[in-house]
Amino acid sequence: MGHFLVIGGGIGGLGAALLAARRGHTVEVFERDGRAPGAGLDADFFGWRRPGVPQANQPHALLGAARAVLRAELPDVYADMLRRGARERHELDWFEERPPTRPGDEDLVMIQARRIVLESALTAALHAEPRVLVRYGEPVTGLDVRPGDPPRVTGVRTGSEVYEGELVIDAAGRRGGTERWLTEAGCRPPAVERHRTGLAYFCRWYRLPDGRLDGPVRPWAVTGGTFAGCAVFPADNGVFAVNLFVHTDDPTRGALRDPAVFEAAARTFPPGAAWLDLGADALSEVLATASLDNRWSALYDERGPIATGIVPVGDAITHTNPTIGQGMSLALWAAQWVAHHGHEAPASAEFTAAYHAWALRTLKPWFDFQVVADAAIGDRFATRTSRAGIAREVAALFDCALDDPEVMRARARVRHLAASPAQAYGAGEVQERVGAWLAARPGYTPHAAGPDRREWEKITAS
Ligand SMILES: Cc1cc2nc3c(=O)[nH]c(=O)nc-3n(C[C@H](O)[C@H](O)[C@H](O)COP(=O)(O)OP(=O)(O)OC[C@H]3O[C@@H](n4cnc5c(N)ncnc54)[C@H](O)[C@@H]3O)c2cc1C
Repeated sequence: MGHFLVIGGGIGGLGAALLAARRGHTVEVFERDGRAPGAGLDADFFGWRRPGVPQANQPHALLGAARAVLRAELPDVYADMLRRGARERHELDWFEERPPTRPGDEDLVMIQARRIVLESALTAALHAEPRVLVRYGEPVTGLDVRPGDPPRVTGVRTGSEVYEGELVIDAAGRRGGTERWLTEAGCRPPAVERHRTGLAYFCRWYRLPDGRLDGPVRPWAVTGGTFAGCAVFPADNGVFAVNLFVHTDDPTRGALRDPAVFEAAARTFPPGAAWLDLGADALSEVLATASLDNRWSALYDERGPIATGIVPVGDAITHTNPTIGQGMSLALWAAQWVAHHGHEAPASAEFTAAYHAWALRTLKPWFDFQVVADAAIGDRFATRTSRAGIAREVAALFDCALDDPEVMRARARVRHLAASPAQAYGAGEVQERVGAWLAARPGYTPHAAGPDRREWEKITAS
């Protein structure tokens, strides 16, 4: 069994460390933050400044894909999440009566929880593992690289300390230093594909009144108009987030930071109104984030591995704008692959090539899907129009799903990364149902939810 060094103790790093340790490897995790979660969920979530993980207090959808990894590999962690207040929401519960079960339905479940619930449960399990040492407050500052063809990473540096390991798992997230450290050591630059997205997000956290643990199933939690959208993220312990998103060039954007404007704007969308009308208490200011990239970064190019002895997982290999909410799921998939294959000469060129081939097959299609989805939303928000043709068909798929359980199942399979859009939406039955739904609605206008522009400008001008 090997000794693995993990850079970063976010979801990807914690998951990779725990899964590898449970397969017999010894693991050292290096985390920039000076402490672990443990002050209590609310204190950790709302009161812990974490500049290395600025997204930590943004809402995180935890998809069926992540849930499947947790239930299969780390059932104790999953049970601990539920104990800490995470809740399950089955997508087919949208309908008063669930349609007859089909194979795979068991994975169409959203975990409702703040990201800190997963981090806390993973951390507690990791601390109980005798084979793991977590070095908090000890950021990695460089890599030890042995020259060769390809060069081999043999360890990490933290200031003057050097730690050696058979495999370095880069889980330092979207701001990690691996690319720079490798090129400084004389390696070829990583193969990067990058797409800017034009979306800005505004989120505010609330707690349901009277000890309520959950809000309404209807209306649907996500709605997009032609220039703005609204999503509600039900989470653990009666906490939920309301999220608004607009184009980064939208001149009304700045006004949404004002809590009163934010709430008035959110109430113009059905989910925002339904949840805010419950009389929830605000728990945070309006938290803004924007200019997120979709970025794919492989330590492998047409000549082969850029270096061996290192694999990127989580946001280090693919970080995506969160409209699909796939980051934690892809991170856990990668962590799982590394743990399953970590005994197969992990410092070899063959291992690096096998990981890259798996990542291209398994992670890259979801990255590509996110790029296409963001381009469509960005285009719609920038032009404030819903273009005819394909956009209408795609929008109809989503709206038809709210009426038709079979189409909802297809939509949920894509949403939870269980089937590609081509597999799920290309099925004859789904196409026929959406076609019939559209034919019965000749005046169908896609993206009609939410305010018109004049109303929006009035609200955001006040
Ligand atoms: C606004 C926003 C919303 C999101 N919403 C969702 C969502 O709905 N669903 C979802 O699944 N995903 C979402 N994500 C993505 C998700 O946060 C990440 O994909 C996921 O957590 C995996 O990240 P990671 O573990 O690779 O990196 P991170 O979670 O960023 O963790 C990286 C860790 O590495 C540490 N670190 C960095 N550099 C060093 C160093 N040199 N030495 C030591 N430690 C270091 C950091 O302190 C941090 O703890 C969202 C992201 C953003 C930005």
